[in-house]
Amino acid sequence: MSWPESVRARLALWHGLALLVVVSLYAAAVLLQVRDDMYESLDGQLLGDYALAVQWLRQDLAAAAAASPAPADQVLARRGRDLAVWVDAWTPDGRRVFDRGREPELPAPPGLPATWPRRFAGLRLPDGDHVRMLVRPVEVGGQRLYVRVGRSERFARRELQEFAAVLGLSLPFAFAVAVAAGYVLARRALAPVESMTARARRITADRLGERLPAGNPSDEFGQLAGVINDALSRLERAFDTLRRFTADAAHELRTPLTAIRSVGEVGLRGPRSEADYRELVGSILEETERLTTMADSLLLLSQADSGAADLHPARFALAELAREVASDLEVLAEEKGQTVRVDAGTGAEVVADRPTLRQAVLNLLDNAIKYSQEGADIRLAARASDGAAILEVVDNGPGIAPEHLPHIFERFYRADRARSRASGGAGLGLAIAQWAVEANGGRLEVESQPGRGSLFRIVLPGGPAEFINQHARSTS
Ligand code: ADP
Repeated sequence: MSWPESVRARLALWHGLALLVVVSLYAAAVLLQVRDDMYESLDGQLLGDYALAVQWLRQDLAAAAAASPAPADQVLARRGRDLAVWVDAWTPDGRRVFDRGREPELPAPPGLPATWPRRFAGLRLPDGDHVRMLVRPVEVGGQRLYVRVGRSERFARRELQEFAAVLGLSLPFAFAVAVAAGYVLARRALAPVESMTARARRITADRLGERLPAGNPSDEFGQLAGVINDALSRLERAFDTLRRFTADAAHELRTPLTAIRSVGEVGLRGPRSEADYRELVGSILEETERLTTMADSLLLLSQADSGAADLHPARFALAELAREVASDLEVLAEEKGQTVRVDAGTGAEVVADRPTLRQAVLNLLDNAIKYSQEGADIRLAARASDGAAILEVVDNGPGIAPEHLPHIFERFYRADRARSRASGGAGLGLAIAQWAVEANGGRLEVESQPGRGSLFRIVLPGGPAEFINQHARSTS
């Protein structure tokens, strides 16, 4: 028989088997107890029989001596020649000198009477009947005799057999009832699982808003449903984010593509001077550059999401990084007549992946230059503070309105869509900067007041290299 697949059937079978074992053990114990009780009462009767037998024996022998009719016969007759009893008496050399009771005569156990068991013992007759017997020595008229009394176990055995049959027959019945009851119970108990399964089947990528029925939230199934529902909520949010990300990415890619196409169309419309063509090709290259930057950013973010970014932490000074980035972007600042100042003392050292951190600082400084007005002052400051290494990018540009602040690190988010697009941002710079800082075990903070400027602060764990290494490992 193969074990059933369904949990319900398995539970019902286990229930039935467990009950069968318990009931069998119980029945066996009861049967043993009843058997003991029966033998105990049989043995009690045998003791009574023995006392009577000794009495008859004395009277019988006395009567024989007086040559009068045997009173033992009368005694036996008084007991109605009870067919369940044997009485006989033996001399030590094995002669039977007294024999009364039931037919057929009780065979003698092997050996001399002195060696026969003194305890109550069983004897099997040739006709199949079982006899319980008791042998004890007695002194009668100065002579030693062994008196044996016996009783048939037939009635006791029959009763025991009937009782065992009743118990035996009720076992399959108890098993069947237990399996049926177990099945009903399991069905009821597992009902929530069925409704959860039915509901879960309906949940697809398009219907992630569906939730499993929780039933009683504090029982095991309710808790399971709760955990799965939480996972579904997270999955739904992740899907939403992914969908938005894909839509936004497609949208952002379209803009430069449309620009390239229209520039191309304009170029084909009629003959133009070489200078015009140069200008058109220049704009096409500019848009292509923008597309490339965006594709690079998307690639970087997808690597960041999948955890595939390869980081190689090394020790370096933040001040040095600040100076390098400032000099890289100096040209852009100069174009707008802005000044970029680097305030960097020594001591702010970090163990981090330099290229990713450089990317973060680049994006922050690029934003400061991009969004600040002509002639603005921009400052990069590196310092060590309370075991942390800090790098700030401060500008006195337009600042960010409080309603935009919580969103500026989101992908494709731009506070001022029209202005940002004109200046070339796709809304990915801060998302990348934040990832880069966090991947190195730090955090990126922002403080900004509209009209007064913005401050972006990179906070990284500083201090001894072992500490930084440990921190970077635990946060990566
Ligand atoms: P973008 O590619 O548009 O620059 P970012 O993710 O770098 O995208 O920035 C998100 C938005 O935050 C920007 O569109 C801009 O509105 C705002 N922002 C970022 N840095 C500054 C800053 N230094 N001054 C003012 N606004 C800023």
